[in-house]
Order: sequence, then C-alpha cells, then structure tokens
Amino acid sequence: MTTETFEFQVEARQLLQLMIHSVYSNKDVFLRELVSNASDALDKLRLEKLRDDSLDADVSDLHIELDVDKEARTLTVRDNGIGMSYDEVGQLIGTIANSGTATFLKELKEAKDAGGAEGLIGQFGVGFYSGFMAADEVTLVTRRAGESQGTRWTSRGEATYTLERVDDAPQGTSVTLHLKPADPENQLHDYTSAWTIREIVKRYSDFITWPIRMVPEAKDGEDAPEPETLNSMKALWARSRDEVSDDEYHELYKHISHDWREPLETIRLQAEGTFEYQALLFVPSHAPHDLFTRDFKRGVQLYVKRVFIMDDCEALLPPYLRFVKGVVDAQDLSLNVSREILQQDRHIRMMQRRLTKKVLSTVKEIKTKDAERYATFWREFGTALKEGLVTDSENRDAILAVSSFATTHSDDEPTTLAQYVERMKDGQDAIWFITGESRQSIENSPHMEAFRDKGIEVLLLTDAVDEVWVDAVGEYEGKKLRSVAKGEIDLDAEDEEKAGEEREKQAEEYAGLLGWMRERLDEDIKEVRLSTRLTVSPACIVSDAHDLTPALENMYRAMGQEVPRTKRILELNPGHALVKGLHQAYQASEDRAELAESAELLHTLAVLAEGGQPKDPARFVRLVADRLERTL
Ligand code: ADP
Repeated sequence: MTTETFEFQVEARQLLQLMIHSVYSNKDVFLRELVSNASDALDKLRLEKLRDDSLDADVSDLHIELDVDKEARTLTVRDNGIGMSYDEVGQLIGTIANSGTATFLKELKEAKDAGGAEGLIGQFGVGFYSGFMAADEVTLVTRRAGESQGTRWTSRGEATYTLERVDDAPQGTSVTLHLKPADPENQLHDYTSAWTIREIVKRYSDFITWPIRMVPEAKDGEDAPEPETLNSMKALWARSRDEVSDDEYHELYKHISHDWREPLETIRLQAEGTFEYQALLFVPSHAPHDLFTRDFKRGVQLYVKRVFIMDDCEALLPPYLRFVKGVVDAQDLSLNVSREILQQDRHIRMMQRRLTKKVLSTVKEIKTKDAERYATFWREFGTALKEGLVTDSENRDAILAVSSFATTHSDDEPTTLAQYVERMKDGQDAIWFITGESRQSIENSPHMEAFRDKGIEVLLLTDAVDEVWVDAVGEYEGKKLRSVAKGEIDLDAEDEEKAGEEREKQAEEYAGLLGWMRERLDEDIKEVRLSTRLTVSPACIVSDAHDLTPALENMYRAMGQEVPRTKRILELNPGHALVKGLHQAYQASEDRAELAESAELLHTLAVLAEGGQPKDPARFVRLVADRLERTL
C-alpha cells in the first residue's frame, strides 16, 4: 500500500508546536482527552446502529481499552466505536475545526510566555493533539464501522503526517503514543505504569459511561490476566451531591465542553414526579470565541435513562442561554427521540422553562453572594443574556434583575435598573440611556450635555442588542426607558411653565432661520428646532421618539431587510454664539449663499459629534479649510 504525506493546516501546525514545546503544567490530561474522544466515538456508533440496523458493525461489547507496553514505551487507547474513513482522518485530525481559528492565530502571536500559551491550550481544548505532550510520535489506526478498509495515520507532530490504507484494522480507533523518554525525576508521570494510568482514569474519566479497561501486563511464565475495569461508570448527575466532589463535576464539564478550564458554576436539578429528569448544568468561566456566530454549538447533551442521545440539544434551553453546558437525563423519553419531536414535546417545553428559571435564579444567587464572580459572569455572558430581554418576556424580570449596565454614575461599577431607580432625582420620571459604539464616544456626545449639567444619571449602552431590548422592555417599575437622543426632552420639571413660555418666545424669534434651514437640509433633516438638551455644543441630531436609530437601521439592512431612510431632527443651541451669529446673519441680509454653507457645516458637525460620517467628506474638508484660512 502507498503511504502519502500531507502537511498540517497552518493553525494545526502552530497548535502542535505549542503543545510540544510548552510546559503545560498538567500533562496527564492528554489521557482524559483521548478517552473522551473514544467515548464520543462509542456514543456515535451506538446511535448510528440504532438509526440504521443494517449497519455492519458489532455493538455487542462497546468499550475503551488501554494498553501499556513498558518495553516499547507505548501507550495505546483503543475503542471499538464509529471510527473514521480515510478522508475523515485527513479532515478531522489534520485541521482544527474551530470557528475561532483567526482569533486563535492572533492570540498565539501574542502569547509568547508559557503562561499565555497554557491559557490558549486550555481555551482551544485541542483534544487529540494533546497526545504530543507525552509522545514524540503518535500512530492512529482506524476503520469506520461498516467499511472494510482501514487507515493508518502517523505523525511526529512536526509539519507533516502520513496516511496509508490498511487491510486488517479492527472496527474503531486505536491511538498509540510512542512515549517520550522516561523522566527519572518524575515517576508520577510515567505513563507506562499501570498504577499511574489507573489513577489518571479515576481522576478524570470515572464518570465515562463506557467501560475503560486495562489489561495488566502478564508476569513471566503466567497467562495473560483478565482485563480490569478502571472506571465506576456512575453518572454524576444521578448521584447525590455529597457523594461527588467539585473536581469530579469539573472533569465532567471538561469532557462535555472541550474546555480545559474550570467552570464558573455548577447547577444541579432533580425533578421528580410524572416526568422525571436530572440535570447537571455548568456556566463556563469564559465565553467561547464563537458565541455570537451562526454555527455556535450549544452545549447541553440529552441522555435518556443514562444513555447518550444527542449533543447540542437546542430544545433544552433558550438561545440566549446557549453558553450553558451540561447534561440532561430524562427518564420517560423514547431512545429514538428526534430533534423535531423534542421541539414539540410538552414535557420538554416544561423542562426548558424549569431549567431556564433555575439558571437565572442561580445567576441571581451568584450576584447576591459574590460580586466578583458575578462581574465575571456578566462580562462574559451579559451580552448574550440581554437577548433574553427581547425574546423571553416570561423571564424578563428575572433577567433584568441580574442585568447591569455601564452608567455615568460610576466609571467602572455597572448598575442595575433597581439601583438606578433608587438614585433617581425628585421629579425624574424616566430612566435615561444613550446608545452607541463605545463608552467614550457616547459619554462625550452633545446629547449628554443637559444631563451632565443637571447631574442626571444616564445608562451608557454599547452592545448592538441594547438598541433592541430597551424598546422591548419599554419601562421598569413604572419608569419609562428613554433615550437622551430621541424626542423632545424637558428636564426643568420645577419651573415648567415659565421655561415653556420662554422657549415658545424664542422659537417664534428663530422661526425664520429654522424654517429656512429645514429647506436647505431637506435631504437629511425633517425638522430644525431649538434644543433644550445642549449647553456647550452648537447643535446635535436627534430622532423622533418612535424612529429607528441609525444603528438599528444599519442592523436591519445588514440582515437584508429594506428599511427606508429615516430623516432626523436637527436641534440648535440658542445659547451658543455660533447659533446666535447665524440668526443675526439671517436677519441682516438677503444674500444667503454664505449662510447656506454655514448651515451645512453646522449640520455636519452635529453628525460628527454623534459618531456619524459626513456625507461628502472631501467637500466638508474643503469648506472647513476655507473658513480656517479666513481666520488667519
Ligand atoms: P475535538 O474532540 O475537540 O473535536 P479532537 O482533535 O480531539 O477535537 O478530535 C477531532 C475529531 O476527530 C473529533 O471531533 C472526532 O470527529 C474525530 N475523532 C477523534 N478521536 C476519535 C476516535 N477515537 N474515534 C472516532 N473519531 C475520532
């Protein structure tokens, strides 16, 4: 048979180098990773056989086997599961299938020190490759269930690997590690020692639902001993809380999530009664890179009576909790249940409601008890959770209770709505917010001037989803959520009448200029009026209370929807010298060519101030340069 040599994908090669050369503090985890892959392969074969009885595969004794050869210094992890075809080996083992690879490469360049590299390995949880932490050569022999020919893959973890077809491969996969030379200083990590292997399996893989067997080496002159099963196979979620250590829960988390780091929180739930189920859910400590991509895989696995049914079960939790990982084991579902059936099943829907409430109440508990952990949670998952404010009206209050937002009240401490309301000034009847790209840009926006002046707190919202949930939620404890950039605002509650009269007088005085400007700017502006929100800037742009904001308009367009362009409102600050000057110039002369330019410039300045772009940047620059020149 011919042996073909291939190159690893660039990312894969870099990752391998990282594995081999980094001093990952805990090399033992490679065995957990290989056993985890083997266990998945057994699950997959069992399911495939269930779906297609004609599949030519033996499922009578599915198991994992560990084989140590002291003399040859090899350790083999073998399963009789689904296996891989020739093409699959190249695809699955030669590349990294993680939609975060671009990010990964970037971070890799930055992670020069060992600590950074370790964090990265943890983050990308690169299962199979971790074998190279312990081995200088890895051989994988595999045959896909139902196929007759197998494949051998070998690599020394450098630039290339080889593939070769083989005739006598058993069903499933065996991974043989040619272990690095023994370290006499460190007997604990001697992977040819049965004792070490037994300890590692107990520690990391005890809960694996398939038997993990080891054949002890025969002593001279004796028959080969019986294989010994190393794991208890007990499902952690079915055991009582005091029987299971936190470490054990965390290992299950790592198996399910392919994350190497500890979870932030473990959530247990046991439902008794007519529809019995157990759930063991985990909130990770870090958001995955692809959380906001379309093909993000959810992390909840469905089991039926201890038997694995499916990964990534979307019916169990709403999309905004997609970052939650774990296992749900239901007693009364059919083993052949399909995704379609699950979506419509009444019990599953009830289960989803209960799990959702449980996750939210756990987050609330974290928030009450441990500010630092809550801060981590919110930093990593707050943006996802806020989607729930839009999509899950039933739990809106519970989500709001654990949501916090940046605020002008503090530079670094976010606030809840409840805290905001507590601080509201006498007579203030709205919760004010501003949306935009970044805290810095919105904090200095002209829309904020009157609020800053009067010491009124404003929430600073910078996620895309913020634009949407504020509309969906509308009000909190009877207080309307209002944008500082929308509608007319009236912050002078005390002297309302007097202030109102004064404004009316001023508006009359300016009516000519305002009307004339509106005509000049007709393409973009539907109204020009005097502002009550400006103290320092000459002008700003606002929307009508019910208009789409520019950010939302862009979002809908990006989603392919047709949205008419909304004309906006230009507000002028009658207290500003520039506006007063314009007014005088308007009254003084019939020749308005110069004035028209000034109006255009003023409008563009207002656009710039809210982070927008001039419609014709070249023209804007020319006009400004011309004016500057005249001041010299
Ligand atoms: P991950 O397990 O995180 O997806 P790995 O690098 O460990 O990444 O494995 C990549 C893929 O290779 C797996 O998703 C699986 O499809 C395949 N694979 C790995 N080990 C086995 C195995 N023992 N049997 C069958 N397929 C396997």
